[in-house]
Amino acid sequence: MILILGGTAEARELAAGLHAAGVPVTTSLAGRVSNPRLPPGHTRIGGFGGPDALAGWIDEHRVRAVVDATHPFAERISSSAARACPQANVPLLRLERPGYREREGDRWQWVQDLAGAAGAITAGARVLLTTGRQGLAAFASRDDAWFLVRCVDPPSPPLPRHHELLLDRGPYDIAGELALIDEHGIDVVVTKDSGGPHTVAKLHAARERGLPVIVVRRPPRRETATVTGVSAALRWACEAGRCP
Ligand code: NAP
Repeated sequence: MILILGGTAEARELAAGLHAAGVPVTTSLAGRVSNPRLPPGHTRIGGFGGPDALAGWIDEHRVRAVVDATHPFAERISSSAARACPQANVPLLRLERPGYREREGDRWQWVQDLAGAAGAITAGARVLLTTGRQGLAAFASRDDAWFLVRCVDPPSPPLPRHHELLLDRGPYDIAGELALIDEHGIDVVVTKDSGGPHTVAKLHAARERGLPVIVVRRPPRRETATVTGVSAALRWACEAGRCP
């Protein structure tokens, strides 16, 4: 069986490909969102309890190989997989989509983390904040700006004092993002460098309106064999799972 550490569109695509190829596959989800999109094949939901417990789970379920297809900003589970797989003596592949690419006309400011993003917002700004539900406390002290906070599920406090919550789930298109920017008088967009086609429309919309974008860099990662596309991961996992 192949274990996919999931929570991304790429993980779902990979699970679908393996399932279609007749390779037994289980996708593991953290259980963060209330109504997750479930991939084909088996799924399990919830943390493993750290690297040792993950190694035990791999062993117990006779996992042949692990694909870490978690989100580029999900640091702890990736680090856990990088420790657990050698311990359980199974190969590990990291599937990580490429980051966003800056284009002519973009006005991006790169920052190290969410605190850096909060610090880069100018007083009085009207912000489209798309960094997700976690870590919003970093923006909580910015009483001098207004935030349109967009995320899938309701975030926990603390949140910035002046904000409106928009619960939504991509994919988004440019027309919709332009309408959102115009309707709320947005003058800066804040995003993580998540990459991928489902959420890139906000960057095209910002370029079209000449708006600055504050982009949070991806966290540094351990050395793990990495591919950026689902088809390469599928080939690797099929081989590891001995596809017919
Ligand atoms: P994280 O900080 O790396 O993970 C925190 C803990 O949650 C891990 O230590 C692990 O618990 C558990 N966990 C995370 N992903 C898991 C998975 N796929 N299966 C089983 N347990 C998992 O991750 P996060 O940033 O909270 O993200 C949680 C999930 O949401 C990830 O699977 C990720 O792919 C998805 N996601 C994250 C973001 C983001 O911006 N961070 C965006 C979209 C989707 P144990 O130590 O107990 O095993």
